[in-house]
Amino acid sequence: MIHKQIQLVRRAIEDVCACSDRDSSSVRVLAVSKTRSTAEIRLAHDSGIDNFGENYVQEAIQKIRELRDLPLTWHYIGGIQSNKTKDLARYFQWVHSVDRTKIASRLNDARADCRPNDPLNVCLQLNLEGEKQKSGISANEIEDLLQHTRQLSHLRLRGFMIVPRVHSNSLLVREGFRHAATLFREYRDIGGNYWDTLSMGMSNDFANAVAEGATIIRLGTVLFGPRGSVR
Ligand SMILES: *Cc1c(COP(=O)(O)O)cnc(C)c1O
Repeated sequence: MIHKQIQLVRRAIEDVCACSDRDSSSVRVLAVSKTRSTAEIRLAHDSGIDNFGENYVQEAIQKIRELRDLPLTWHYIGGIQSNKTKDLARYFQWVHSVDRTKIASRLNDARADCRPNDPLNVCLQLNLEGEKQKSGISANEIEDLLQHTRQLSHLRLRGFMIVPRVHSNSLLVREGFRHAATLFREYRDIGGNYWDTLSMGMSNDFANAVAEGATIIRLGTVLFGPRGSVR
């Protein structure tokens, strides 16, 4: 099942890239494995997926430990509580959801302690439509958080992550992706040498996200099937 789904997704990415004049190797598939078992993750890895995304720290740590025999890259994509920053710095290679200076500083300090020679890759999470129930910063908060984060030597600032507002009209979702892509280009100079990542697009909308320039798409349902218990 998952093998076939991965092939379908890769073909869809290639089609969109052909239409929008992009190289499909510039799009990385992040398999969102929250609620999935380590057996499912092993199957996904057998089908060529190396990058996995998790939202719940305790659940993730257990899986990361059990899967130590595989060369996987782990991405944290959930909301961040400051008492979890040590675990994030220790177990993950990426954190997509940095949204305040205090969290950035804590991740930096924790990474300095546990992996001083291996900076943690981070993205700043955008919330461009001001949705209260979601984390992320507005467009006019970007500059401060970016200037702060880029000076932290144990973090490697890679770009933006966005979860656009859910609209029944996919054109409006696409507009959200386009806005993020515009900001991503505008902030490239401040972002620095490692600024290369636009993390956007999920199962329902990844084609539009790729068309607008996503470099990481975060896919759960389309790869693994529906999640049984959504937490
Ligand atoms: C769960 C989740 C996804 C994956 O969602 P699907 O619709 O199952 O593809 C992507 N990004 C974030 C931030 C998530 O929480």
